[in-house]
Amino acid sequence: MTEAERRRALEAIGAEVAACTRCRLHETRTKSVPGEGDSATEVMFVGEGPGFNEDREGRPFIGRAGALLNRLLASIEWTRESVFITNVVKCRPPDNRDPEPDEIAACAPYLTRQIEALDPALIVTLGRFSMARFNPGARIGQVHGTVRPPHADAGAPRALAYFMYHPAAALRDPSVEAASLRDIAGVPAALLEARRFRSGTQTSPPAADTAAPRELAAAPETTEHNCQTDPTDQLTLF
Ligand code: URA
Ligand code: SF4
Repeated sequence: MTEAERRRALEAIGAEVAACTRCRLHETRTKSVPGEGDSATEVMFVGEGPGFNEDREGRPFIGRAGALLNRLLASIEWTRESVFITNVVKCRPPDNRDPEPDEIAACAPYLTRQIEALDPALIVTLGRFSMARFNPGARIGQVHGTVRPPHADAGAPRALAYFMYHPAAALRDPSVEAASLRDIAGVPAALLEARRFRSGTQTSPPAADTAAPRELAAAPETTEHNCQTDPTDQLTLF
């Protein structure tokens, strides 16, 4: 896909999401929140679902959790504009309750199509519901800060998934916030790993369910690993 095709595909998905009535969440939403970011990015962040502010504005992660996400990204000198940010469900669950399994299932094709259009090298999950899509059965306390090939059903055979706590959980618990700062520091190294993995998948797809999670060290200080100091570096797709 060319850059323009990618952008058009994402816009088409966004237009469908804006008018979607596939699950009950459409009844209570103000605006649906398809997601936003750089259509040429290698990295996609996937949260849980819109909150109060996101529902009003139609944009992901713009409230308090979003401010923390921005801060986490800033700690590795990344910006939200350089990645793509979306959610497992595109409409706000009333009173910020957890999304129901049937709502997640109804909304799943949109995320699948966004992954197809973006073809990201790395998918960073934020929270349990997003993790469950890429690594079902895992426990967030055990897998946060690790990278692995996503489950085959996630529809991302050329990407690696990296797991983080939800920023809202970090807002509630300073120890989770500290873990999130350590975890985000592992993202640049996970992207390098994902690029290597991707060049390997051209010929032999990995066995998604047998690969062991790998612990990532904190981001090295060297510019070699600082994947986004050079903006052109980020656009390099294999
Ligand atoms: N929490 C999420 O999971 N997603 C958002 O977009 C905002 C808050
Ligand atoms: Fe459609 Fe997803 Fe919104 Fe449900 S949450 S109405 S499936 S866009």
